[in-house]
Amino acid sequence: MAKQDFYDILGVSKSASQDEIKKAYRKLAIKYHPDKNPDNPEAEQKFKDAAEAYEVLSNAEKRQKYDRFGHQAFGQGAGGGFGGGGMSMDDIFSHFGDIFGGAFGGGGGGFGGFGGGGGTRQRRGSNLRVRVRLTLEEIANGVEKKIKIKRAIAADGLTFKTCTTCHGTGQVQRVQNTILGQMRTASACPTCQGSGKIVENRPAGVGPDGLERKDETVSIKIPAGVMDGMQLRVSGKGNEGPMGAPAGDLMVLIEEEEHKDFKRDGNNLHYDMYISFPTAAMGGSVDIPTVSGKARIKVDAGTQSGKVLRLKGKGLPSVEGYGTGDLLVHLNVWTPKKLSAEEKKLMSQLEEAENFQPSPGRHDKGFFDRVKDMFGN
Ligand SMILES: [Zn+2]
Repeated sequence: MAKQDFYDILGVSKSASQDEIKKAYRKLAIKYHPDKNPDNPEAEQKFKDAAEAYEVLSNAEKRQKYDRFGHQAFGQGAGGGFGGGGMSMDDIFSHFGDIFGGAFGGGGGGFGGFGGGGGTRQRRGSNLRVRVRLTLEEIANGVEKKIKIKRAIAADGLTFKTCTTCHGTGQVQRVQNTILGQMRTASACPTCQGSGKIVENRPAGVGPDGLERKDETVSIKIPAGVMDGMQLRVSGKGNEGPMGAPAGDLMVLIEEEEHKDFKRDGNNLHYDMYISFPTAAMGGSVDIPTVSGKARIKVDAGTQSGKVLRLKGKGLPSVEGYGTGDLLVHLNVWTPKKLSAEEKKLMSQLEEAENFQPSPGRHDKGFFDRVKDMFGN
């Protein structure tokens, strides 16, 4: 795919002033900032593209080269230049210091809420993952689950001192030689991971990152209608990062237990109901289980095996809140396996009766015809 024009990315004209370029980039950076668009790869790409465009167009010399040679001025790397790899997030954040000035600079708290330090994003703690097994009944109604996790949190009694590698700035400078001359980029300090501070005193038994793994019980509200394989995010309940870095998230993977009676198909449920031959022939009422209790259904006289009754709204609620599925009851006529002598006598009389000879009509289609009907033939 052709690389998008840097001016188009920023939405400015070829003759835009430095000030216009800066303003345009600032707007895009705020709009597509990862903190505002969590787990949105499209926004992240736009954020990176804007940063790359700004990196070139904000520099008079690079802009001139770009105007003359286009993207080729920056090599053929996958990222279009900058050493071939595009810009890393750390590189991008390191530029925020100059574009956002004091509003976003500060004392070392990372980028959450734009309180950040020196422009470098402090690494968050890692995410934790747990599985939760749910019954269909729990899924139908939604449920609050208490889950035991072990998460890394800052130990009690930690004290910090200024990082000696970066002298508290949280970042280290890197100089790269490129076709455009020397490029200076900053990245998170490897010693303090961008926080600008390191552990000074820690309690016995606590590692150099100052973190302790502790048991915690987290209460998770699971909405009705979730499906097997879905993942819920509980933000801030993952591991805390070192040096007071914010915690990652707790990712909750939903697993659905198989139900003894119901088969799930999206928000619809299927239930196999067996009725006796006399009920099928004479009609009657039968009780069936539903996911929230039971329901009584009416079986018409002369019901054939394979008939499907649809109970509107007796399925599962949609997790997005759009309505509720149906319960589809598949009627099957139960044939006894053994007959007593008395029953045999009755049955053989019925077998002779003309009325008991199969004669499927237009309204008593067999299974294959019903399937055909479903597909519109
Ligand atoms: Zn440091």
